[in-house]
Amino acid sequence: MSETWNKRTQMVHGGTRRSQYNEVSEAIFLTQGFVYENAEQAEARFLKSGPDEFIYARYGNPTVAMFEDRIAMLEGAEDAFATASGMAAVNGALTSLLKAGDHVVSAKALFGSCLYILENILANFGVEVTFVDGTDLEQWRAAVRTDTKAVFFESMSNPTLEVIDIAGVAEIAHAVGACVVVDNVFSTPVFSRAIEQGADVVIYSATKHIDGQGRALGGVILGTKEFIRGTVEPYLKHTGGALSPFNAWIMLKGLETIALRVNAQAAATQQIAEALEGNPALERLMYPGLKSHAQNALVQTQLGGKGGTVLSLDIKGGKDAAFRFLNAMNVAVISNNLGDAKSIATHPATTTHQRLSDEQKDELGITPGLVRFSVGLEDATDLIADLEQALVVSQI
Ligand SMILES: *Cc1c(COP(=O)(O)O)cnc(C)c1O
Repeated sequence: MSETWNKRTQMVHGGTRRSQYNEVSEAIFLTQGFVYENAEQAEARFLKSGPDEFIYARYGNPTVAMFEDRIAMLEGAEDAFATASGMAAVNGALTSLLKAGDHVVSAKALFGSCLYILENILANFGVEVTFVDGTDLEQWRAAVRTDTKAVFFESMSNPTLEVIDIAGVAEIAHAVGACVVVDNVFSTPVFSRAIEQGADVVIYSATKHIDGQGRALGGVILGTKEFIRGTVEPYLKHTGGALSPFNAWIMLKGLETIALRVNAQAAATQQIAEALEGNPALERLMYPGLKSHAQNALVQTQLGGKGGTVLSLDIKGGKDAAFRFLNAMNVAVISNNLGDAKSIATHPATTTHQRLSDEQKDELGITPGLVRFSVGLEDATDLIADLEQALVVSQI
């Protein structure tokens, strides 16, 4: 029955497993293991366990399973495997899929830790990676080969908010039999239709919009039942990237409100971007929801016109001006998460992307004046007033 419900209903009820007490709010099964009725049952379960037969929390747990089923419904995926963090999900998906000698094509505009996995870890294990400008389909077409096993990209890049054409890249990748792995954090599971558009594997850091209140780390890998149970689960259950039942419960409760939160945050981000566009303190304002954004047409078809909950501001005057701006803000906080109820401003060049060389920063557009701004659930008019006064201070 739950398969036919609309997403909002699925996010409240989907995946629920009730104990013998019939609790209303989902139970936290804070247990590492499960008792067998007899030795024969233990033997049978280790031989082959059904979807609701648990062995050990590193393999699976009822609270974690509730979260996996609920997020799979939202994404429209056959199955999901929850992980301890977003990075455990990126690493788990790529490492379980690839082996020495394989070739991968990746967009070069990536979150710092994703770049580390592709540039360093995969290289250490003999996987060859070719980096391309993700927005240029010609570069993807030129880079794929018959031995390309996977392509990887962030569908909306961090922090410059380039949008990558999932259907376009998928067509190129599938022509050579490569698996399309998408880190979809900035697009959010609320606006994503990545699987229908050709993604084979979708990854989220649940730390962002799924929790949505900055409390816990988590991640999830979504895909076909065959990929999740046949490829990902054997790797993750033996290497220990499991999500804790307590954090799974936080993420499960986050899904109950995710559509309300993310829609409100995206609407406020659009309002803020429109109010600040053309502000004299700005060199550039990047927001995919604006008509002036280079991939706005793609945002219409790929994301239903929703530009997400993050905008980036390139402030005139470089690092000093950006720091004056950050230090003058009264509502938003300076931190490095995103998708939180609290608005958060980040200076990528000196924090999240500090590790990159100056040439890499230049190439990715991570300028000294760049500030990433994640819009929270505060009143948009308060945020606009605060940002406008901080922009004035930035130019003094
Ligand atoms: C935050 C983030 C990650 C990593 O997630 P963690 O939960 O912090 O491990 C991966 N990719 C993108 C695009 C992110 O924003």
